[in-house]
Amino acid sequence: MKIESRLAQIGSVQEPVTGAVSYPIYQSTAFRHPRLGESTGFDYARTKSPTRTVLEQAAAELESGDAGFACSSGMAALQTIFALFKQGDHLIVSLDLYGGTYRLLERIMSRFGVTVSYVDTNDIQEMANVARPETRAILIETPTNPLMMITDLAAVCNWAKEQGYLTIVDNTLLTPYYQRPLELGADIVIHSATKYLGGHNDVLAGLIVTKGEALSQEMAILHNSIGAVLGPQDSWLLMRGMKTLALRMERHQYNATRLAEYLLAHDAIEEVYYPALKHHPGHEVQNRQSSGNTGIFSFRLKDARYVEPVLRHIRLIAFAESLGGVESLMTYPAVQTHADIPEEIRRRVGVDDRLLRFSVGIEHVEDLIADLAHALEEARLEIAAQ
Ligand code: PLP
Repeated sequence: MKIESRLAQIGSVQEPVTGAVSYPIYQSTAFRHPRLGESTGFDYARTKSPTRTVLEQAAAELESGDAGFACSSGMAALQTIFALFKQGDHLIVSLDLYGGTYRLLERIMSRFGVTVSYVDTNDIQEMANVARPETRAILIETPTNPLMMITDLAAVCNWAKEQGYLTIVDNTLLTPYYQRPLELGADIVIHSATKYLGGHNDVLAGLIVTKGEALSQEMAILHNSIGAVLGPQDSWLLMRGMKTLALRMERHQYNATRLAEYLLAHDAIEEVYYPALKHHPGHEVQNRQSSGNTGIFSFRLKDARYVEPVLRHIRLIAFAESLGGVESLMTYPAVQTHADIPEEIRRRVGVDDRLLRFSVGIEHVEDLIADLAHALEEARLEIAAQ
């Protein structure tokens, strides 16, 4: 079946007792055993829980993996994955990285002796230069957030396999609807399911999908041992969101493309970073490895004085710190999502005081353009009056 059908049907045909079309929320932590030595398949909810299992199986299937693991947040998913590594291990990680992932690596994983080199993961030579005998894995975001840099996944996964490294891909921005890294050779996919998969700015969740039996078994041990698992209510909410993923992603892409084109032509804007635009350096690779584009992009204003009034004058678009929901949100990465990244790294990748990130929702595109046009014009008038 096509992915649209599989998404719409998540959990719909699996409840054998009542035939409930919407899979029930099993709000139980303990499960009665039929007799000594027997189990229904469920013993204790941290290890396995029915509603979460349906979600995990759907995640594994959608990402073309072997096992799925639902976690209490995207960060919990990343921490569970990082528990694969031990004292002395070294990781190669995307330079333009979500700030929370950077903080977890630098403030927490560093205490356990795990070291990290931050590079442009599209540059295999640069990765070869930082590689060491202790290197274990490459962590890639593609597109990166906020600068939308694209990594050629098949090329990097090939190289990583030759070196014996695991490849971990954060697929939050594109979702399996548009990109499936495990099909391109990656070993692990991670999602902040809080974003497009949930899609409604109302559930915090993370997903891990693994490829291969040994890795899947090890991840099951880590997931159960660490215990940062997703509860039944949130598992259900996430599945409900995922049922409409295909429709939402199409609309996010359409709106984001129109808005990116509008901003590119606006005289207050210096640059727009969105892989759907032909002049984007990753445009061709993105088209090759993904079947569509995400709904977020970033843009750089010509004058930093625009930032404050633009954020004050947007009305429909909320000045808020997330992405991937049906409501449009605007973020100032340098002081919000990426504040934990040292200024030197931020400057190197271009996360400066003129950069705004726009998570384009599913509202009518003309309303969004009108809101932005109004905020930019108010900002221009205020600056002119200074
Ligand atoms: N990965 C990416 C690309 C993100 O954008 C985020 C959050 O913004 C995370 C991981 C962390 O996910 P969560 O906020 O669900 O813990």
